[in-house]
Amino acid sequence: VGKQKWADTVGKFASKSELDDIRLVAKDLAGRVESAAFEADHSLTPNALMVAELGKSQLAELVVPAAFGGRYEKVDPLAIVVTREALNYTSAHLDALFAMQGIGSFALAQAGSDRLRQEWLPKVARMEALAAMALTEPEAGSDLKAIATTVTQDGDELVLNGYKSFITNSGCAAFYEVLAREGDDFSMIFVPAGAAGLTTSVGPQIMAPHLIGDMTFDNVRVPLDCRIGARGAGFSLALATLAVFRVSVAGAAVGLAQSALDEAVRHTSTRFQFGKPLSDIGAVANLLGKCWIDVETSRAIAYRAAEMAREDSMGNLHMSSIAKVGASEAAGRVVDAAVQVMGRSGLITGSNIERLYRNARPLRIYEGGSEVVLDSLARKLVKMSGSAAAK
Ligand SMILES: Cc1cc2nc3c(=O)[nH]c(=O)nc-3n(C[C@H](O)[C@H](O)[C@H](O)COP(=O)(O)OP(=O)(O)OC[C@H]3O[C@@H](n4cnc5c(N)ncnc54)[C@H](O)[C@@H]3O)c2cc1C
Repeated sequence: VGKQKWADTVGKFASKSELDDIRLVAKDLAGRVESAAFEADHSLTPNALMVAELGKSQLAELVVPAAFGGRYEKVDPLAIVVTREALNYTSAHLDALFAMQGIGSFALAQAGSDRLRQEWLPKVARMEALAAMALTEPEAGSDLKAIATTVTQDGDELVLNGYKSFITNSGCAAFYEVLAREGDDFSMIFVPAGAAGLTTSVGPQIMAPHLIGDMTFDNVRVPLDCRIGARGAGFSLALATLAVFRVSVAGAAVGLAQSALDEAVRHTSTRFQFGKPLSDIGAVANLLGKCWIDVETSRAIAYRAAEMAREDSMGNLHMSSIAKVGASEAAGRVVDAAVQVMGRSGLITGSNIERLYRNARPLRIYEGGSEVVLDSLARKLVKMSGSAAAK
């Protein structure tokens, strides 16, 4: 049965040797742009070198289905985890550029009109068009049902009005998938960057600088086929996107944690206090050991959950959630311990460890804040146990 199952998935997803190749390509790319990492991770505009090198690496093909210029028949969560792990080891900016190509185009790939898919998705796969997904608003973060942006149909056009905030790639994306209220429904609308009435701004600058910004929709008109999927499909499309990409945040967290641990090991094994390396001092060694456990258990759950998401991303969303929260919280612990064992060297502004420390923080907030995810996990757990409380 196992063999048959595997045979069924060949071609749909990356094989084991292909995953090894993908990892090597991603590591090679990260190595080639490493010298730009500090500047890019402080930038509020896309780093041109990273965009160009990502394009050359062909890695963005992984986040688009083969029918529209991508690599595999179905977008492969495990291939994305492996890639984000390698990219975020070196640069959060590089990782975000890669991840957003998938997050910002998945709904379009699933349910967009053929005209839009044929026009835009091959460009996404080649890094010629940056993608974005706009859900969040000033008054609606975790509680997306509180969004106020509206879309109404006017003849053969859709008209959008409203405001979005904290949108990755705002101002530099070629198009946006926008969640909007359509009467009592929620729909996902494709909005090209040049649409009249759309204005974007960059910022605010956050502690881990990121390409974020706000968007204003003032009677933005788009053709009717810009509604992605049916009227009212907005939330299921957003959820389908999460189901495939949430686990990839775990991959990014593993890469960052590994990077912080490597930095801590380098430092503590070469700095001597009390006549021996710091790494030989019990309390420091204990922290290093705990960090290693955090990194390896996070990697294991990230890969396991991604494998399960390959088979059934919606049915296994709880596993992706476990991996996302587990690995991002672990990355927070690891990078904090790394700073601690590096003493004053860990505090220096502009150092690698300081950048990692700041970059770890948003992982626990975006794509489902830890508390929100824990809450839904507890509900799922009770439901799976079949207890009376869930009935
Ligand atoms: C770097 C970055 C990039 C982003 N990119 C995008 C993007 O591209 N597109 C987009 O649409 N959005 C984006 N966001 C926004 C992100 O999705 C929101 O920040 C996130 O949904 C949380 O919303 P909030 O920040 O408003 O926090 P709030 O919803 O105000 O939550 C605040 C705190 O309360 C907790 N909380 C809230 N509700 C509950 C609950 N029911 N149960 C338990 N705890 C709860 C949260 O976990 C959190 O700790 C980005 C954010 C960041 C930091």
